[in-house]
Amino acid sequence: MNNKYELIYEGKAKKVFTHDDSDKVIIEFKDDATAFNALKKAKFEGKGRLNCQISARIFELLIKKNIPTHFIKLKNENTMIAQKIKVIPLEIVLRNTAYGSLCKQTNIKPGTVLEKPLIDIYLKNDALNDPLITKDRIQLMNILSAKDLDYVINLTLKINKILKSFFRNIQLNLVDFKLEFGYDLKNNILLGDEISPDNCRLWDLDQKNDMIVSLDKDRFRNDLGGFIEAYSEINRRINNFI
Ligand code: UDP
Repeated sequence: MNNKYELIYEGKAKKVFTHDDSDKVIIEFKDDATAFNALKKAKFEGKGRLNCQISARIFELLIKKNIPTHFIKLKNENTMIAQKIKVIPLEIVLRNTAYGSLCKQTNIKPGTVLEKPLIDIYLKNDALNDPLITKDRIQLMNILSAKDLDYVINLTLKINKILKSFFRNIQLNLVDFKLEFGYDLKNNILLGDEISPDNCRLWDLDQKNDMIVSLDKDRFRNDLGGFIEAYSEINRRINNFI
């Protein structure tokens, strides 16, 4: 990155830099992959570029459907320009099919199609290991008003409808995903972060048998191999469709 831009924040998968306009930031997608609160780490050449491209296409789709997002435009292959936001320290997970932590913490069987989308909210706090949190605790901690929490939940349900149908068109089952939101300088709530196979579970529907074929970060979490190939396949299907 050009050194006239100052690094504001470095996370596990992205770096955030200042922009010439003080209300914008430059987000650089890294090749690093982490899982289990960064206990497991690796680097995959090309991952940053793929997640940046996939996220940009999905943000464009959501913006077309009137979802407020931080995305402005791509800057180059692994960087994008976005509105500067103050991130709300919550991870909003929506599940269409039971998998992952839901099945570890309950007796619901992996692969169970949920009758209606389930929303699980986690506190974004690595030191506390991102615990599952309740509506009342969110208010108790003054993280978000009841009104803004309802707004975020409704937006997440709307985003699910758009993404589920989009991914179905490219033969992918959107099992679950995680979103993050933030306030822009005018106090509007915008969808932030990224939307990529790092934070969505996507199962291939192009399957002759009932086997689960994950085309997402589970390939890394569960040592399934073919990580970059899976992310490239998602990118390829999106580009062929749009
Ligand atoms: N997820 C995420 N970041 C996290 C935890 C989960 O992006 O820190 C995503 C994950 O990729 C999946 C969804 O949220 O698409 C639900 O994850 P789950 O709670 O099942 O946890 P996991 O099994 O990933 O530990």
